[in-house]
Amino acid sequence: MKKLAFLLLSAIAFIAPASYAAEKLKVVTTTTDLASLTREVGGDRVDVTSLAKGYQDPHFVDPKPSYLTLLRNADLLEVVGLELEIGWLPPLLDQSRNPKIRPGGAGYLDVSQGVEILDRPAGAVNRSMGDIHASGNPHYWLEPGNAIRIAIQVSQRLSQLRPADAAYFAERLQSFKVKMNEANKRWTAALAPYRGAKIVTYHRSWPNFVRRYGLNVIDYVEPKPGVPPSPSHTFELINLMKAQKVKVILVEPFFDLKTPNSIAERTGAKVLVMYPSVGGTPALDDYFKLFDRNVAELVKALR
Ligand SMILES: [Zn+2]
Repeated sequence: MKKLAFLLLSAIAFIAPASYAAEKLKVVTTTTDLASLTREVGGDRVDVTSLAKGYQDPHFVDPKPSYLTLLRNADLLEVVGLELEIGWLPPLLDQSRNPKIRPGGAGYLDVSQGVEILDRPAGAVNRSMGDIHASGNPHYWLEPGNAIRIAIQVSQRLSQLRPADAAYFAERLQSFKVKMNEANKRWTAALAPYRGAKIVTYHRSWPNFVRRYGLNVIDYVEPKPGVPPSPSHTFELINLMKAQKVKVILVEPFFDLKTPNSIAERTGAKVLVMYPSVGGTPALDDYFKLFDRNVAELVKALR
């Protein structure tokens, strides 16, 4: 009798995890920020992997064979869109042969559709303007309002793919919104004394961030988006920064610090490495930690 009960129990134990484990939705995101926001909403019902690492420039990602396996097995692919991944994702999608996650498929989610986009070019775009994105600035995830807008879209899509867990996703979305609003109050208060502060950034990664917190980007180290610093632009920038008494240059961690450092030397400004993505360093392993760190360091630099 005991033996039979044991056999029955082990049979159940064997079957049960299989039917639950199979329930986890396999989500692949192009960036770590989307992965972090998806974990907030998806909890233990999702298995999330980001293709790009948080310390990589998301415009340029070297494809790896492992990406194909991830994409082939994915239930959902989330992308930043606005051409951010145009240089590396399309061939991977072709080769992965997973029709579910192709544009238009139930497993494809371009979250740029439901967020606030800045820097939309007014007229036609051409190559002389540098790496300008025709449909607007793709670095929109660096702002709490858009983080919530992304989470809403993720929650809706996860619910469509897994209706049985819709209530679970809705509840997690709700607590995420509360947590994000609380955190944003903290960040807003910390940066409030620096409203209107003039800064320079390397790339145009921060338009949504600076608008939210009232900072004023007067120019960029790149002469044009995606174009490396040139001596003539750097010379003009130094004069402008001196005239406007700019104290801080924000640089993404994947850019060479040589030009920013020499500008800093000649203007008295400070160079601050700002992380545009979760995972920029191992400690910054979620969206909240990313903002906590960036805001704290920015406050120190502006003080
Ligand atoms: Zn960019």
